[in-house]
Amino acid sequence: MSASSVRVDLDGNPIKPLTICMIGAGGFIGSHLCEKLMSETQHTVLAVDVYNDKIKHLLEPDSLPWAGRIQFHRLNIKNDSRLEGLIKCSDLTVNLAAICTPADYNTRPLDTIYSNFIDALPVVKYCSENNKRLIHFSTCEVYGKTIGSFLPQDSPLRQDPAYYILKEDTSPCIFGSIEKQRWSYACAKQLIERLIYAEGAENGLEFTIVRPFNWIGPRMDFIPGIDGPSEGVPRVLACFSNNLLRREPLKLVDGGESQRTFVYIKDAIEAVHLMIENPARANGHIFNVGNPNNEVTVRQLAEMMTEVYAKVSGEDSIETPTIDVSSKEFYGEGYDDSDKRIPDMTIINKQLGWDPKTSLWDLLESTLTYQHRTYAEAVRQSIAKPLAN
Ligand code: NAD
Ligand code: UDP
Repeated sequence: MSASSVRVDLDGNPIKPLTICMIGAGGFIGSHLCEKLMSETQHTVLAVDVYNDKIKHLLEPDSLPWAGRIQFHRLNIKNDSRLEGLIKCSDLTVNLAAICTPADYNTRPLDTIYSNFIDALPVVKYCSENNKRLIHFSTCEVYGKTIGSFLPQDSPLRQDPAYYILKEDTSPCIFGSIEKQRWSYACAKQLIERLIYAEGAENGLEFTIVRPFNWIGPRMDFIPGIDGPSEGVPRVLACFSNNLLRREPLKLVDGGESQRTFVYIKDAIEAVHLMIENPARANGHIFNVGNPNNEVTVRQLAEMMTEVYAKVSGEDSIETPTIDVSSKEFYGEGYDDSDKRIPDMTIINKQLGWDPKTSLWDLLESTLTYQHRTYAEAVRQSIAKPLAN
């Protein structure tokens, strides 16, 4: 970017370079947000995480055009006194840190609740006490189940959008019973949202809350046994990628009937970029960020990923591409599911003029091309190894 090309916000005001404390910067969303901020802006990022593998390409070598504008701070926000100093010397804090894989919600409910509520408390407190702006990542899962899911199967009201579209300012949050520990995550996220909202109302905290609806793309989670634990269960994109790479059937939990809308990470990052640079339009708001046009059942997602992977890898798909598995077998006791997640886009469209662009087919094509290029050889070697021994 040339020094003469001054960037302006949505209201035509010049954008001043910011210092951003990004907590959880080493994760999937953080790595894409860091990439965007380094390549397209003059902002400085203090990247906080316990890992940095996904942002290593941005940190080294020193000859990178943005060297000096990104610093990595390896720290655990649970117990590190350096956190307040980093928040104090920043203009804005973006908090992404969380345990956010469904396989953990019912098997590690305490870690899930601590990570999503207790560990976020000091971040909110330091922002509020030091008059610093906060963009906090919540989740679409705070909506839980749709009202429509409680209607009889044959009720015509199930087709009425009023019974399933999820709106920030009017939809209720509907979770299962306490023994369905799946909802430990959603409940912890809901409580931290309420706390941030209350800090805004009572103490003037400038905040924005983001509710991501299944953002997917390169660098999401891990491939079990390659860059994560062999027995680990990542989110669905990585589970299905792993099955495709290993030429195993894709596992459909409880028939794969749940519905999701998937948004391409690069589209979603555009929305966060707009929030960062337009505080007057973003402060005090909760934003759904998703793509209502990309709705599929999990079964349809499996079928599309199988077709796209055959195209990008040049390999025929296997004879039995999917198998059914019960949620108890796959996730264990206490799993439950969101039936359907279609975001209402009115608020983000009105405040920030943002709309998602990428179709499901296109985003799967670029993501699975990345998965194949990054992992196919490593998976081939890991499968060959036990035979060689
Ligand atoms: P991610 O797991 O890839 O990233 C989270 C990062 O936070 C990780 O790098 C992790 O090491 C770090 N972290 C966790 N606890 C920490 C701690 N105590 N100290 C320091 N670092 C810590 O997840 P993501 O997909 O990038 O999600 C980011 C945020 O967005 C989360 O809050 C998540 O709940 C929310 N979210 C994401 C999606 C999605 O579609 N990806 C959907 C809903 C909500
Ligand atoms: N799922 C599945 N097979 C898998 C992994 C996930 O059928 O191998 C289902 C899961 O039960 C859920 C959906 O895919 O209905 C999306 O799961 P994900 O882990 O991405 O998280 P969620 O959208 O539930 O937060």
